[in-house]
Amino acid sequence: MEIDFFKGKSVLVMGLGQFGGGVDSARFACRAGAKVIVTDQTSPETLAEPLAQMADCSIEIHLSGHREEDFGPEGPEVIIVNPAVHPDNRYLALARENDKYITSQIEVFFQLCPAPIVGITGANGKSTTTALTAHLLKAGLGADDVGYQKVWLGGNIGNRMLLSEIWEIRPDHVVVLELSSFQLEQLARIRKAPKIALITNLTPNHLDRHGTFEAYCAAKENIFQFQPTDPTDLCISIFNSDDLVTSQWFSRYNGQSGRTCLEFSDRDVPDSLAKRFPLAGKANRSNLSAALKVAQSLHVPDDRIAQAVETFRSLPHRLEPVATINGVTWYDDSIATTPPSAIAALEAFECPRIILAGGYDKNLPFDEFGAAIASHAKAAVLIGKTAPKIAKAIYQADPNTPVQIEFTASMVEAVQKCAEIACPGDVVLLSPACASYDMFRNFEHRAAAFKECVLSLCS
Ligand code: ADP
Repeated sequence: MEIDFFKGKSVLVMGLGQFGGGVDSARFACRAGAKVIVTDQTSPETLAEPLAQMADCSIEIHLSGHREEDFGPEGPEVIIVNPAVHPDNRYLALARENDKYITSQIEVFFQLCPAPIVGITGANGKSTTTALTAHLLKAGLGADDVGYQKVWLGGNIGNRMLLSEIWEIRPDHVVVLELSSFQLEQLARIRKAPKIALITNLTPNHLDRHGTFEAYCAAKENIFQFQPTDPTDLCISIFNSDDLVTSQWFSRYNGQSGRTCLEFSDRDVPDSLAKRFPLAGKANRSNLSAALKVAQSLHVPDDRIAQAVETFRSLPHRLEPVATINGVTWYDDSIATTPPSAIAALEAFECPRIILAGGYDKNLPFDEFGAAIASHAKAAVLIGKTAPKIAKAIYQADPNTPVQIEFTASMVEAVQKCAEIACPGDVVLLSPACASYDMFRNFEHRAAAFKECVLSLCS
């Protein structure tokens, strides 16, 4: 595929998305010379922000539902589908019946990108590892053995899609992308995968879409299965040796011709580097170990890596320090919407921990989370729909648990309760293990409420 493929064609972007997932595709198609229609099921009010981001483009907009004629014989010939659209969607079926050219943002990007791509996937730690990898690679710019001249950071992370900037990406650049399992499924259709592929770990998530853990693993494995294995220019596959599933993949792929396989573990990070790394906990050390493998593979010198490790900062809402008040440090880990990520937050500290958890019920099991609270926390302050379930899981793990369990009705009350319980030297973690929709618009809104309550403790 060449960019010219789009010139003069009519293109339908299906799914603009509240967070603007379709904006990049629409801007790209416009810039490539296509006649563009954007369609979304949602109302213009909900989509005000993404619509504003396309205000300067000449695009036809069909909102509040899809129109059959856009997918019919007279409609656009190319459809760029948002990864959030289910493959069984009836309009997509109609488009297939009418022999439309159906593609996605990520497929077009992989077909057109002239630079090598580092793709990062996994259940947890994707964004942190992706940002950290780009940070370490940037530190290598200009060093003797480093072959690339610019580092691009994008993909799912902060919704920074790069297709509309494809004209600026050159063969001597490197692109670091966070890839979701949905995007990997789309790429598998065209048998594409990144030159350097890395998986952070695998635990059950998104089972509503993938059905079983096996199906979810299969979607993730696409990142290795379709890597270009050219014997003169090896691809690199990077696995987590502490993860049950991915360590087996290492054994499966290691030794295949055209491929270099590497493994990482949090235990591989030298003490001297771990000490300089500002992010707390074992899980973040695992992310660092993963990013180091990429930086070393691309020849970033050790002294530059060491300096860059020290200047990296947590991404917003990922175990992000908010304030230290009366010797108590408060962390915003609002993005921890699943039990494994909240367990990782609890395990990140050794000092007494108070966890503020609970929220919308996605029907995920809490038994391991309950056990982690029972063995690591001093207190659990619970909010939201899942509060009783989490309390039950703690008692099930240890019927005589010394953990102080408190039920609260609002963020204000929860933060006040945490402040009452906390002593100097303790940490308070907003690491809910649940989505936020029962009380907040999203995890950012929840974090903002938390931050406001915490900062009001100072006044
Ligand atoms: P993702 O992009 O996969 O959602 P993030 O880097 O945004 O991952 O982190 C999301 C949550 O997962 C945070 O709560 C963080 O503390 C936790 N986390 C980060 N890295 C790991 C890891 N390697 N294993 C388990 N949990 C992790």
